[in-house]
Amino acid sequence: MAKTKTSTTGGAKKTPRSKPQRKTKPETRAFTAEVSRLLEILVHSVYADRDIFLRELISNAADACDRLRYEAVTEPALTAGDENFGISIIADAKAGTLTIQDNGIGMSGDELTDNLGTIARSGTRAFVTAAEKKAGEGAAPSGLIGQFGVGFYSAFIVAGEVEVTSRRAGSSEVWRWVSDGTGAYSISPVADTETAPARGTSIVLKLRKGDEEFARPDRLAAIVRAHSDHIQFPIDIIEVKDGERGEPVRANAASALWTRPKREVTEDQYKDFYGSLTGLFDNPAITIHTRAEGRHEYSVLLFVPESRPFDLFEPSRQGGVKLYVRRVLIDPEAALLPPYLRFVRGVVDSEDMPLTISRDMLQQNPVADAIRRAITKRVLAALQKEADTRPEHFAKLWEAFGAVIKEGLYEDYERRDDLLELVRFRTTKGEGLRSLKDYVADMKENQTAIYTLTGDDPARIASSPQLEGFGARGLEVVLLTDPVDSFWTQGVMGYDGKPFRSITQGAADLGNIPIEKSDVSGEDDKKDAPRAAELATALAFIKETLGDAVSDVTASDRLVDSPACLVSAEGGPDRGLERLMRERGKAGRSAPILEINPDHRVVAALATRLASGGREAAADAARTLYDYASIADGVVPDDQKSFGKRLTALLEASLA
Ligand code: ADP
Ligand code: MG
Repeated sequence: MAKTKTSTTGGAKKTPRSKPQRKTKPETRAFTAEVSRLLEILVHSVYADRDIFLRELISNAADACDRLRYEAVTEPALTAGDENFGISIIADAKAGTLTIQDNGIGMSGDELTDNLGTIARSGTRAFVTAAEKKAGEGAAPSGLIGQFGVGFYSAFIVAGEVEVTSRRAGSSEVWRWVSDGTGAYSISPVADTETAPARGTSIVLKLRKGDEEFARPDRLAAIVRAHSDHIQFPIDIIEVKDGERGEPVRANAASALWTRPKREVTEDQYKDFYGSLTGLFDNPAITIHTRAEGRHEYSVLLFVPESRPFDLFEPSRQGGVKLYVRRVLIDPEAALLPPYLRFVRGVVDSEDMPLTISRDMLQQNPVADAIRRAITKRVLAALQKEADTRPEHFAKLWEAFGAVIKEGLYEDYERRDDLLELVRFRTTKGEGLRSLKDYVADMKENQTAIYTLTGDDPARIASSPQLEGFGARGLEVVLLTDPVDSFWTQGVMGYDGKPFRSITQGAADLGNIPIEKSDVSGEDDKKDAPRAAELATALAFIKETLGDAVSDVTASDRLVDSPACLVSAEGGPDRGLERLMRERGKAGRSAPILEINPDHRVVAALATRLASGGREAAADAARTLYDYASIADGVVPDDQKSFGKRLTALLEASLA
């Protein structure tokens, strides 16, 4: 509906924007650079599926009918005299032309220029970018056409010339746009407005040599049935023989797909409908088709796509639900699902909302609110069912949309419990995705918390020293690697009565859980463990040496193989989260706690050295342990020069 068109600047459109000019000579204008590129790609490729041009033109005609029907709700005069909408496909084999005609909203001269001379749809733009990338890689872009809707320009797949004649509903003017698709188009007013249609658009394709098949009614009927059957407006095919128009033959079911009973709709029909909604031609992964009856009556047809749309994380990305009221399109992007379900696309058609409802009023409308709640619940239930019954399939969806769904954990307090059942994580337990239910079921005796570790790189955080003590005790740790994890972990207290607990935060409290395995440090190292008094002295000495850099130095039970690691104080920020925030300039640095592994040989040696008066060597060792722990956290040592010196000295000593 009122769509904003991006008009590309830069050379192309130099002619002043015409207030309807009374010119008789057509005006010639160049396409924007992107359009030229697109046309070139289309014309010079060999297509897997040439038929798609018809789907695109029919979809535009249907959009035009939808738009006029909406405007006519408040301005009935616009459709006076002809309230039935329809699309005609006129095939003239002898003339070698194919005409697609609609009695929708039509276009003014300005709109013809803006809509057909400039790249509009983001999907079309994405197509050009993707095709150019492929061409750069030496591959033909042909396969792409099936994946992207290329819109109006796909007419040039089969046409050497395209002539668009259009009258905006309610206007006395008629405009004509003509192009051969090689870089320019001409636009002119049509003088004889008497014989022109009362409203709408007529697109005449002069078929290329070799594409005459597209003037054959049976061929056209088959394409309509395959790709456009779901269109709710009647599509008629008219054959022209020796200049005489034959009887129109209905080519589609002409009832909105979502109003048909589920059992009458085939998989392919859903797929085609989904394709026309999204402009992307992957498959729907989940289809939800229901009809609510009772207090409110409405039909719902929603799809969870198979793959992530390219703009999923763009702030401008809206919910993708089309709202109809009794088959009249009211809002092509109605906010009927929460933002964390913005990847779901589809249609809701209400029987009891007022036709005159404006898009702004939707927010407060109680029927819209009831629908919003009901379909949100439905989508979550469908996702949960997928997770329970087809976990492998769900894992793919989770890869695509999990990061978005997790936004719901802090945005949608009301459905938090449902969402906690749905969320999946990578953990230290192998490759697959785990649910919180899985996690809790596998908890160890005496384990009281769900352990987490935050960071941006799964491989890097999986090698964090802080994990060692947990691994040795067979304790599973949830690895949180999406930026959104930083947010919800602040607000969500726990699952099934078990709190979430970052393993880089506060004391590990692992004393009650026995060690199951330890790979590197054998019992030998333990023998070297410093006695309690010696250890206490060493810890105090390290703390004194490091000064303000650390808030405390303590003996650790979370380390096995590493001599030291950094953690934050009880209630302090998760270390990984703090680093992410710092990298984004959003947080200062809090002094961490340096945890020392009392069973480690190096620590024993440090304590012994200190006891025998080697304060200087012990101080160097303390600083190096701190630098070691920083590096393991992914942070550069505070004093790189001093670190470099100590490292060189160590190398010299070990090589001597
Ligand atoms: P999209 O349909 O995604 O916007 P298209 O390239 O298919 O992209 O069409 C570009 C624009 O041209 C449409 O948004 C619409 O404004 C206009 N348009 C195309 N065909 C028609 C038509 N038959 N009637 C009215 N407007 C049309
Ligand atoms: Mg289109």
